[in-house]
Amino acid sequence: MKLNELTLTNPYLTLPPKCYDRVSPAPLDAPYLIHANKEVAKVLEIDEEELQTDTFVKWLNTEYIHPHSEPFAMCYAGHQFGYFVPRLGDGRAVNIGTIGKYHLQLKGAGKTKYSRGGDGRAVLRSSIREYLISEAMQALRIPTTLCLGLIGSEHRVRREQSEKGAIICRVSSSWVRFGTFEYYAHKGMFKELQALADYVIDESFAHINGKHDRYTLLFNEVMVITARLMAQWMSAGFNHGVMNTDNMSIAGLSIDYGPFAFLDDFSHHHSCNHSDEEGRYAFENQPSIAKWNLKSLMMALSPLAPLEKTEPLLALYDRVYMRYFHYYMCKKLGLEGTIEGDPELIDDMLDMLEQLHVDYTLFLRTLSHYEGNRDALLKTGLYHEPMQIWLDRYDARIAALPTARRKSQMLSANPKYVLKNYMLQEAIDAAEQGDFSVVNDLFSIAQNPFEEHPEFERWAQATPQAFKNQRLSCSS
Ligand code: AMP
Ligand code: MG
Repeated sequence: MKLNELTLTNPYLTLPPKCYDRVSPAPLDAPYLIHANKEVAKVLEIDEEELQTDTFVKWLNTEYIHPHSEPFAMCYAGHQFGYFVPRLGDGRAVNIGTIGKYHLQLKGAGKTKYSRGGDGRAVLRSSIREYLISEAMQALRIPTTLCLGLIGSEHRVRREQSEKGAIICRVSSSWVRFGTFEYYAHKGMFKELQALADYVIDESFAHINGKHDRYTLLFNEVMVITARLMAQWMSAGFNHGVMNTDNMSIAGLSIDYGPFAFLDDFSHHHSCNHSDEEGRYAFENQPSIAKWNLKSLMMALSPLAPLEKTEPLLALYDRVYMRYFHYYMCKKLGLEGTIEGDPELIDDMLDMLEQLHVDYTLFLRTLSHYEGNRDALLKTGLYHEPMQIWLDRYDARIAALPTARRKSQMLSANPKYVLKNYMLQEAIDAAEQGDFSVVNDLFSIAQNPFEEHPEFERWAQATPQAFKNQRLSCSS
């Protein structure tokens, strides 16, 4: 379909007026297209040719407002680093309409009622990071919001220094956050709280619609999908970095990418967020922080779902998380099902990788080719003995499994490429000089991370020493 033929709806605007605020977006100066996502366009039924038109750039830059679009910003609250902030909201994201079940949002399109002194803008470097990581997560089969397109501009944006402004068009089946519920609960706005819960059930959990005690069921659903998401992040070696409740998706998606990282050398306590001095959002804390966040959600839902019913559900979280974690890790190790001793084999592998400073992604990909010769594996670590001992146990575990089948399962569970921060920085450095070829290259490996891509072999190696496990600022 052509852009002007699309049917856009605005279902969020059926909620009570205090749930959002209408916005007049503010275009960037001299915008240009950096990248458009053909796969996402296909899902939205947008013709591929439309992505190269001037109208597409104007649409992302809010110069062209689709006739069905009623731009608005969503209101929410949130616990940031453990402290409650009663009002946050979309301070720089403007919702421009819904196509099918996907809601489109322009991040960096100017100020809203919720900007709180911010400029409503997004800089090029953080926009490139979010654009590429969304695609990478999707291809790794980790639930995530998506991006349709990325535009750059000559618009100057002031951060620590002057930078170029950009806009990404984000696409998601839900933009509701744990913090959205917290806003209405804190204010005692129970009519809005209930309307939001009903909206979310319709939007993301239609199978519980009309069921008895549906708000308790809603909490149970969110508990389970959040546990699963954490298990996926932990098994992929992904550190989000800013797990505030306003960055927690009610639909169990990875959302609001900032100073995130894929681990370089495996490290339990790595924390990618430079501003997070206490390591609240460090890699190993993610599952328990998600539980802390679920507890905030549970409290916010308590006028609708009584605590006598939701507390026992929250108490199940650790077991649900562990079950999913072992499920994903056993897939990565090529073990068919989890049997006694597997959890210890997994835990001891992680400790061994940390002790030997081994690149997490490289190790698992190399293990996916393993048939008994240990040379390539041993080369990934600082020294050999602990890995030899662990491999003896692994050999015993896989002895009865058919090798060819194990290898092919592992090669589809262990990516050859993840987007590490040093790679993203290469794309950003080139893009800031007007060269988008590295963005294009990273997009293509992000889309097919399990394939070989011989031309990009260097990105499949351990991260160069100077760039290992670095920490990034919150504005990343
Ligand atoms: P984030 O850290 O990007 O998840 O943002 C936390 C809150 O600050 C959200 O309410 C954002 O909308 C808001 N925010 C972040 N950056 C800006 C900005 N440059 N202008 C306005 N609001 C912002
Ligand atoms: Mg956020």
